[in-house]
Amino acid sequence: MLTTLRSLCRKNLQPTATRFIVCSARNRHHVWPYKRFPPVQDKVDRRKIQYLKLQKCDFRTTQNLHVPPLVAMLMRPVLRIGALLLGRGIKKWWTRKSAKEKEEYKWWFKERRNMFLGCFGLYGLILAIYYITHLETNPLTQRSRFIIFNQEQEKKLGQMILEAHLEAHKTDLVPHSHPAYMRLMRVIAKIFAANKDLKSMRDTEWTLTVINTPLTNSYILPGGNIFVSLDIIKIIENDDQLGIILAHEMAHSLLLHSLEALSGQLLWDFLIVIPILLVWALFPDLTAGIIQIIGERIVNIVYNLPYSRVLENEADEVGLKLAAKACIDIREAVVFWATMRTLTEMHTLPPELSWISTHPAHGDREKNLNEEMTKALELRRNSGCSVLPALDPRDKFYKRTAKEQEIYFKQRGII
Ligand SMILES: [Zn+2]
Repeated sequence: MLTTLRSLCRKNLQPTATRFIVCSARNRHHVWPYKRFPPVQDKVDRRKIQYLKLQKCDFRTTQNLHVPPLVAMLMRPVLRIGALLLGRGIKKWWTRKSAKEKEEYKWWFKERRNMFLGCFGLYGLILAIYYITHLETNPLTQRSRFIIFNQEQEKKLGQMILEAHLEAHKTDLVPHSHPAYMRLMRVIAKIFAANKDLKSMRDTEWTLTVINTPLTNSYILPGGNIFVSLDIIKIIENDDQLGIILAHEMAHSLLLHSLEALSGQLLWDFLIVIPILLVWALFPDLTAGIIQIIGERIVNIVYNLPYSRVLENEADEVGLKLAAKACIDIREAVVFWATMRTLTEMHTLPPELSWISTHPAHGDREKNLNEEMTKALELRRNSGCSVLPALDPRDKFYKRTAKEQEIYFKQRGII
């Protein structure tokens, strides 16, 4: 088994020096060596250019102050609970005071109002400076984003989460010998080999775990640990569609979306502590609890979920480019999301409520990828790929009537 995988990597990655990749199955890891690719000729010059680009785009005068991810994750509940308890403490302390004492404190506070406002202002200024100095420009998208972790920390965090996921799925793990596992590995190796000009692609230690769960899902953990459920493989029609899904997950990792999300959440927690403190200090407990829950739901719907959907669209677009370079028939991306949309309309898949979802609606992804297709096909042509079949799979899909679609899905055994 191991030999087959090694030869697979050798075949696809054209190795010249030792490197390691970890594959997990049946509650254990197999570590096998494969080789590093030939050094890029213009490595030094390209780095110089990248360095200049980053200097131009990033506002930074000192070394970044990176926060250990574990500390960040623990800090989040501590901040919120701390603000809540402090607010309640202030409220209780206030109720114990006599009317005369309250008047005296109000007067004392009025006298020092500017000092308190100055403290809040300073707090906001420190957060703003921290935010600006931790903006990084992603070379793949040229988008500037706030990140407070480095990739070494991402690897450690990824290892921890991977172990927890393997433990949670220990009864669902699909062995390496399973044909689906081999198929997925082949497609990942193809995408990897075609995009090895990207430093982040080479630096990531990709792992694959296939799980046998009823959830139609695939996802990636920090550090490049891809999880795919067997159920999603039943829906995909061919290796091109599989490549689209895997390239999307790999794009999430290259774009450091998990680090960006965690960084944003931590910054938000530092911003929200003052409103939480004030709400719990000024209102009775029940009212304060309701205000906090409603407030957080509103922020979630208005900001967090749309932001998550933006990241999903970004991974779709970058994934499409990775797949194009790997000579995948990227037109199948539209067919895949059209299939997902149709299955949802037929109630085979759960209904979508995109405004309260972390992911865009299937139909929106279908439309967005279709709009990106002309540029991506050009990239595919420029990557030295063979000419695509004249019959466009999108036309084939859209020409079927609803009844024909149903018969087709039944024939494929997905409904
Ligand atoms: Zn995604």
